[in-house]
Amino acid sequence: GLKTGIVGLPNVGKSTMFNALCENAKAQAANFPFCTIEPNVGIVAVPDPRLDVLSKISGSEKTVPTSVEFVDIAGLVKGASKGEGLGNQFLANIRECDSIVQVVRCFEDGDVVHVAGRVDPVDDTDVINFELALSDITQIEKRLERLKKTKGKSGEEAKRNEVEAAALQRIMAALEQNKPARSVDLSEEEAELVRGLCLLTAKPMVYAANVAEDDLASPADNKYVQQLQAKAAEEGSGVVVVSAQVEAELNGLDKEEAAEYLEALGVQEGGLKSLIRATYKQLGLLTYFTSGEKETRAWTIKDGFTAPQAAGVIHTDFEKGFIRAETVAYDDYVTSGGMGAAKEKGLLRLEGKEYVVQEGDIMLFRFNV
Ligand code: GDP
Repeated sequence: GLKTGIVGLPNVGKSTMFNALCENAKAQAANFPFCTIEPNVGIVAVPDPRLDVLSKISGSEKTVPTSVEFVDIAGLVKGASKGEGLGNQFLANIRECDSIVQVVRCFEDGDVVHVAGRVDPVDDTDVINFELALSDITQIEKRLERLKKTKGKSGEEAKRNEVEAAALQRIMAALEQNKPARSVDLSEEEAELVRGLCLLTAKPMVYAANVAEDDLASPADNKYVQQLQAKAAEEGSGVVVVSAQVEAELNGLDKEEAAEYLEALGVQEGGLKSLIRATYKQLGLLTYFTSGEKETRAWTIKDGFTAPQAAGVIHTDFEKGFIRAETVAYDDYVTSGGMGAAKEKGLLRLEGKEYVVQEGDIMLFRFNV
């Protein structure tokens, strides 16, 4: 599955957020395995209001959301990239993730110690991003050293190595100016060549501004959120405002109490849903659906997947034996009231191997076994 690593300095609210994500997932989908699978790994459903609409139209017995995996990566501190403490292990854990959520403390609380002695979101992100960048610089230096050895040789491999080295040098230059690898424009060939290094700063990242409950209703008034947003805008990364503590408290309440609590705070939700959706979007992911009497289900694909690739997410046999896909756009499905009705109206399309699946498509695959 797709993994998102939760990183941040100690005491910023990572574990509180991680636990809230998992508890919430359990409460939302009691009969599905969306829960903590290891102490620090949890599978979380992606909230999607379209699922219930489709489920109702199709009269489905079951409704299954799609999911993302979160990993709580504690212990990233100053000096991690130098291998201090368990630093290297933490960086290795991040390397395995597809994207990163960086939790940033934007709440004041005298009872919760801040590692640097004061709340300063921009400084905190600098510390974390610096460690990630240093780790990337070390990786790139090692790789460039190896690539040098093929210098002077000719042939396909030497040519590829030259392209890779040039791309790595550009990334290195960016890192030295405190810019992440993801900010460097790479050609498709270059991107493919450097992918093997799994650079940490090349991964999509969302900042989660962890605010106090009183700031949830109007986060723009919080100076820490303002500072973080200004910084994120410079980098081209996203900020989601969330209150880990509010989310943690919500999980202990029944529906009515939760609604009252949120109303008192002047908000609809604690920000967890936005965080999950933002992560999904940052990864360049799309959702398509299958829907019938048995179940309505959301499936995750990457932007640009063809119909057979999308079918392969359900089962590899679907991809191998793919014949065609009966496809209806979400809006057409809803306005006409189902697959059969859409067909009568001429809104059902027969799509072949080349079809690029669109966000929200309802698909029925025909395949040889
Ligand atoms: P981690 O080290 O980043 O995983 O941080 P924790 O989730 O363990 O939180 C550290 C402390 O901060 C705990 O005592 C939490 O209860 C507290 N905390 C977390 N989020 C908030 C918040 O939004 N507001 C306040 N006041 N305290 C919080």
